[in-house]
Amino acid sequence: MKKYLSLLLALSLLFSSCHQGAKVITEKAKKPLNIILLIGDGMGLAQISAASVMNGGLALEMFTVIGLVKTSSADDYITDSSAGATAYSTGEKTYNGAVGLGADSLPRITLVELAEKNGLSTGLVSTCTITHATPGSFFGHQKSRDMHKEIAGDFYGKGIDFVAGTGKPYFDLNRLTDDHYKIVTGKGPFTFDPLSKHIWFYNDSIDPPKVAERGPWLLDATNAGISVLTHNKKGFFLMVEGSQIDWGGHDNDLNYMASELVDFDKAVKAALDFAKKDGNTLVIVTADHETGGLSLNGGSLAAKKIEGSFASTHHSGIMVPVFAFGPGAEQFQGIMENTDIFKKMKSLYGF
Ligand code: MG
Ligand code: ZN
Repeated sequence: MKKYLSLLLALSLLFSSCHQGAKVITEKAKKPLNIILLIGDGMGLAQISAASVMNGGLALEMFTVIGLVKTSSADDYITDSSAGATAYSTGEKTYNGAVGLGADSLPRITLVELAEKNGLSTGLVSTCTITHATPGSFFGHQKSRDMHKEIAGDFYGKGIDFVAGTGKPYFDLNRLTDDHYKIVTGKGPFTFDPLSKHIWFYNDSIDPPKVAERGPWLLDATNAGISVLTHNKKGFFLMVEGSQIDWGGHDNDLNYMASELVDFDKAVKAALDFAKKDGNTLVIVTADHETGGLSLNGGSLAAKKIEGSFASTHHSGIMVPVFAFGPGAEQFQGIMENTDIFKKMKSLYGF
């Protein structure tokens, strides 16, 4: 009897260790090597619905894992873009206007800084100034989003491998060169230099033009970013922002908003296409907040037309959608806080 019991104990231990082993393997397989986070600034559900009708569909509609994000900041139900981006970059709610700081005004480590510390490659792509609230909150630590020169000052020495956007006048080009950046200015084409990090300015000025003049630059920059960052076998983090969806909302200009969203959607498709081929890449698409309190009051699917009205020229407090594809995507189902997006990304990377 004693012999029988010890055999049973040995068998059950063997079974449980095998079982645990299998569980560990499954969990490992679900972790991404790379994360591409795409932020449609001001992109609420009404914006997506309108752009889908006006464009006859969107790549966004290919996602099957979808959740909702609560967007409020530490000091206001209605967030601004720097507090919204800081929630995504640091996992903490802060006051409106703060860039990469906690609500106590002290710096918090960002996902880009964490990724660099862990040997991954990092990149930022934006259709606005690189020092603007959204991209700036991934590397900057300043009390106000208006401190563009100071935010640019936080950029040097971080090791960020690929950057595309505008805001050249805010940067010290000599410092960039000393920091081993290859500086490219203009629409492209982009050429990869394996011995350099890359900073690609759309033009010499502060803001880039609207998509009608800009052309497929966001798509080109996204593809260039992915191709640069894949050279690191340890993995990468890439943030891509469709900045001007928000500006169309502030202007209460439905066509401007939708054209920028359709442009952003092309970058989403490029990220999805890469992730499907790669198998180790998690793509997350979300927004920092909705802009304009857009409602859709009429339209025609056949004519690809929407009648919309805006309730304000500012941001609204409505939840925004989050879409995910790839290893770990299932974690982005349900309703979550904006800070949870950072926490999930950090844990999926294993930082
Ligand atoms: Mg922005
Ligand atoms: Zn805004």
